[in-house]
Amino acid sequence: MTEQEIKDIVRGVLTGMGSASSTASAPASSATASKGDLMGVFDNIEDAIAAAKAAQKEIQPMPLEFREKIIANIRKKTLENAKVLAEMGVEETKMGNVGHKILKHQLVAEKTPGTEDLQTIAWSGDRGLTLIEQGPFGVIGAVTPSTNPSETVICNTIGMLAAGNAVVFAPHPGAKNVSNYAIDMVNRACVEVGGPANLAVAVKNPTMEVSQTIFSHKDISLLVATGGPGVVTKVLSSGKRAIGAGAGNPPVLVDDTADIKKAAEDIVNGCTFDNNLPCIAEKEVIAVDTIADELIYFMEQNGCYHANKDEVEKLTQTVFVNKNGRQTLNRDCVGRSAKVLLSKIGVSVGDDIRCIIFEGNKKHPMIDEELMMPILGIVRVKDVDEGIETAVELEHGNRHSAHMHSTNVNNLTKYGKALDTAIFVKNGPSYAALGFGGEGYTTFTIASRTGEGLSSAKTFTKSRRCTMCDSLCIR
Ligand code: NAD
Repeated sequence: MTEQEIKDIVRGVLTGMGSASSTASAPASSATASKGDLMGVFDNIEDAIAAAKAAQKEIQPMPLEFREKIIANIRKKTLENAKVLAEMGVEETKMGNVGHKILKHQLVAEKTPGTEDLQTIAWSGDRGLTLIEQGPFGVIGAVTPSTNPSETVICNTIGMLAAGNAVVFAPHPGAKNVSNYAIDMVNRACVEVGGPANLAVAVKNPTMEVSQTIFSHKDISLLVATGGPGVVTKVLSSGKRAIGAGAGNPPVLVDDTADIKKAAEDIVNGCTFDNNLPCIAEKEVIAVDTIADELIYFMEQNGCYHANKDEVEKLTQTVFVNKNGRQTLNRDCVGRSAKVLLSKIGVSVGDDIRCIIFEGNKKHPMIDEELMMPILGIVRVKDVDEGIETAVELEHGNRHSAHMHSTNVNNLTKYGKALDTAIFVKNGPSYAALGFGGEGYTTFTIASRTGEGLSSAKTFTKSRRCTMCDSLCIR
């Protein structure tokens, strides 16, 4: 398929989204998608929740092998649709980078754990056999972000389904089309292998009122929020069990024992991945004074534009806007490339420029705030201890992600303990923590705030003890 054909499909799908409704028969979840109905996408939230509840009743008694069959088909369709989903995401949200979004979908398809993640614990002895098994919650309400919209929908669906749940999504309104397209895709994958429709549902037009209904609905027993601090606080105050995957502002510290050339490469690669949209991505650099100049030199060699004082001032005026007397992020800058950001302040650069760097004080707003743009402020510190202190301050107690380049295990250990984050990448780009060029499984819901860490199928289960007295022990 040519680039143009894919673009035409994306445009066709986005145009047709306005007329989507709850039932469907056209094969929309492939590269041949066209205008029409989306499976699992309803006009009304009550209908959506009722449909998910009915689907969950079918999923729960299914053999795990059958759940795996559905998941295998979701993985397959995600790989087939990676490019379409990536193009749709960029076109709708105006954020990120198509190539990197394709990689993110491939990662979700290949490395999100399925039913193998559910482990049984057993005690067997004279008084019989006791098992702890992980059962589903039932219907989960999941809020998803604009930054990794379809990636999160697909990743959450795989984990939640593996655990035997159905899911009602509340996608970000600014990414509703691509999110709902992904919901349609997972449902079609399920139906195609003989499973129920509506294992994942949403409404055509997600609003705050729709989310509120989900948060308080009697048929929803677990809430999962992937997003900024506002939504995580909302679900945590809902009165239901909630998993909060909130904001970060990951610092990366480079000490004087690091391989500086490699550190520069890794930091720029991590920071610029999908234009810095991932919550785990390097958001500011802290460099020990003795290696700071060398680090900056190698960052410049790796596609960084070193902004001068005047340009930093102009950028600051551009990336923040005053909203009701409060300085907030300019959404027109979030997830944009370095080239686009520089063009907004009248600086023209080539495609080789991937990142903007500047030296600044830790209090500088473009260092202190989570920008989600390929802009890296560099804070110079006298030694590693001051670096650790600065990193703790800039991470703001999110306990989300922090990274470090060092060959001194004592420094690494001290940093890890002080930061106390769900993710700590040592001597690599931040995305290694998602299993991309690093060991381990992937997720796009990192439960930093509530402590589950990188979510997977077992995160979406409840623990059940099953005891047989005086029997079934055959030792
Ligand atoms: P956002 O907070 O604007 O929106 C996230 C979701 O929450 C959206 O669906 C939105 O509609 C909803 N929402 C926001 N406020 C709400 C409220 N008061 N009530 C109900 N729903 C509400 O975030 P975004 O711009 O889409 O995503 C970026 C943010 O999410 C960043 O802060 C990033 O760090 C964080 N994030 C965290 C993770 C993680 O795994 N921890 C993953 C991705 C993004």
